[in-house]
Order: sequence, then structure tokens, then C-alpha cells
Amino acid sequence: DTPTPLAELDASLLQTTYTTSPRPVPAIGSPEMASQRVCTDHMIQAKWTSSTGWEAPTLQPYGPLSLMPTASCLHYATECFEGMKLYRGHDSKLRLFRPSLNCARMLVSTNRIALPGFPPDELLKLIVKLCATDGAKWLPKERAGSFLYIRPTMIASDPALGVQRPSEALLFVILTCFAPMDDLKGGMKLLASKDDMIRAWPGGFGYAKVGANYGPSLVAQGEARALGYHQILWLFGEECFVTEAGASNFFVVWRTREGKVQLVTACLTEQIVLDGVTRRSVLALAKERLAAGHEDLEAVEVVERKFSMAEVVEAIDEGRLIEAFGAGTAWFVAPVGLIHFRGKDYTVPMGDDGESGKYAKVLKDWLKGIMWGTNGQESHEWGYVV
Ligand code: PMP
Repeated sequence: DTPTPLAELDASLLQTTYTTSPRPVPAIGSPEMASQRVCTDHMIQAKWTSSTGWEAPTLQPYGPLSLMPTASCLHYATECFEGMKLYRGHDSKLRLFRPSLNCARMLVSTNRIALPGFPPDELLKLIVKLCATDGAKWLPKERAGSFLYIRPTMIASDPALGVQRPSEALLFVILTCFAPMDDLKGGMKLLASKDDMIRAWPGGFGYAKVGANYGPSLVAQGEARALGYHQILWLFGEECFVTEAGASNFFVVWRTREGKVQLVTACLTEQIVLDGVTRRSVLALAKERLAAGHEDLEAVEVVERKFSMAEVVEAIDEGRLIEAFGAGTAWFVAPVGLIHFRGKDYTVPMGDDGESGKYAKVLKDWLKGIMWGTNGQESHEWGYVV
């Protein structure tokens, strides 16, 4: 007998049950909106077992999951997730931003923690279906320029305590309300990590979006907040290589001693840095639109390499640091105003207006244009109209 092949995740099999008790959409500026606890009316779910593969996915009313206390994810961190946004454009369209990259990265994450694979395009179709179902009500046209946060998640749900590859898993996708982001006055203040708190290491899993990367970072993040910093600047190794800022990638713009302007971010080669969608997009736009100079901006050379805190400090001390910023879905492009490293606060330039460096500003405006359909970027290939 040939074994029956395992069923693939197949969005065309979606079974839909609409809610019979729709809930109110929180008002802009309300505490519910900012709480990040309010989800939309529906969610996607799909179950997998190692013996049969993927069951037909469902679109169903949002609500609690049922898990046994022995579920693998509750003990062994067999959990991974994605973070994306659904944008209500100024042209009234609903858009995702390069969603295929998130779906492909989700597969990188599931592979790292022995969760089942799936065709990334099928996940994308399920995400789009959920956004199309709840987008009109939860992101009404009057809310142009706002967004919902999309959280695709996979957990191992085996009800068995053995430490082993999961034989059952659950994929779900939810949409949560999020307050519009205000720019941080004075920029992001970063506290550089010390060597007793390391986010990621070669051979580890820092490149994957697994929950195990985030829980253990919260002690350091809480300490940073208590001291008045926004995020940790994650350093690695004796050389204090600069990797990421909180849950965003980190960029500096500096002038080399030879006089060249460079946009620099940590490379991905040691697998200790997340391959951010915003990071990729900043690099691509900078190569495409800044390499030959733009308006009053000098041409930049785009560099992905290891760089150390000593190099950043030297650039600051020698007046060569032009600006620095974090880049990620949640905080978007966030100019950095200050870095605390080994007992000293270093001020990072924030442009002539004191609000943002010019490179961060132009990159942010281009990305905003693509996400919200403005500035002539309405039909950019990175914008995925739902
Ligand atoms: N680094 C880490 C550790 C993150 O969690 C995130 C957020 N996903 C990022 C960087 C930025 O990635 P993206 O631009 O895809 O949101």
C-alpha cells in the first residue's frame, strides 16, 4: 500500500461561519483602541496533524482557543508568528505591504521549530480573505491613514508532554486594533544591551520570528523603560556588534573618514538578525533612489555588514554620524535621538528640525506613499490591494 499523501494547506477549501454577535469598533483615541486587546469579528484557523496533514481552514467568529494543559506550545515554545499591517489608504483602498515576504518568513520560522510547512501563497490567500471580511467595518473609509495589525501565528497543540517533534499544530490569523503611531518627540532613546542579556547568537534562532526570542527580552526591555529609554539596542559579542533595536532593524547614516556617506545596517549572514520586511524595503529604496543623490541629499552607498558600537561612538565623537533610525512594521521608521552605552549617553543627530534625519524622513515618506497610496505611489508593486 502506498501511504496517502498528507493534505496541503489549501485556502480554496475555506469553510466560513460569520459571527452572529458583531462587536463595536472602538473609537479613534479610545482606551480600547490603544489597549491592543480588541480583535475584529473573525479569525482564520487551520489544524494540522502529522498523519493527515492540513484540514480545511475555517473563517469563524473570533474567540478563545481550546488547548489541553499538556499542549506542546505551552511547555516548549513551539510557537512562531508574523507581524504585518492592513492599511486604509488615502485613496480608500485597503492594502497589505509586501505580504509574500511575511508568508515566506513564517515558513522559515516554522522550519526552525519543527512546526509543519505550508505553501506560503495559501497562507497569503487566507490572510487576504480575513482582511477582506473584516476590513470594511474595522477600517472604515473615514479612517484613511490608519491600520489594523495582522498576527498570523502557529502553535504546536499536541496534548502530550514528551519533548519531541509536534504531531499536531494550529495555524490562526487574527486582526487587532492599534492606535495610530505618533512620532516620538526627540526620537527613540536606546539603551545598549550588556553582555548578560544577549538576544541572539550564531547557531541560535534570532533570524526566526519565534516566540522564544521575545519572552526572554522583556526583562531588559522593562528595565530600559523604567530608566526612560524606549528600546534595547541589542549588541553581540566582545566587539559589541550592533544588531537590532527592540523589535526593529537598526540603521545608521554616517560619513566615512574618506568623506563618503553610507547607509549601514547589520548583515544577515550570522543569522542573529531578523530579515525585516521594512529593512529590505529601506535597503532597496536607498539603492534605487538615493545612490545617485536625491534633491538636497548627498548620494549614499548602501552597506550591509557587521559594525561595532566602537565605530558608532567614533563616528559620534568625530561628528561623522549623520543620523540613525529603527525600521520595522510596528514602529515603522523611527529616528533615534540617543544611545546609552557603558554609562554614557550619546546624542544622535536628528536633522535640522530636531524631529528626524533627512534620510529617514525621505525613506519613511516613500514607504508611507506605498502603504497608504499617496505621493504618486498608488500602484507600486509592493502595495497589495485587498
Ligand atoms: N527585528 C525583530 C527582532 C523584529 O521582531 C522585527 C519585527 N518583525 C523586526 C526586526 C522588523 O521586521 P519587519 O520590518 O518585518 O517588521
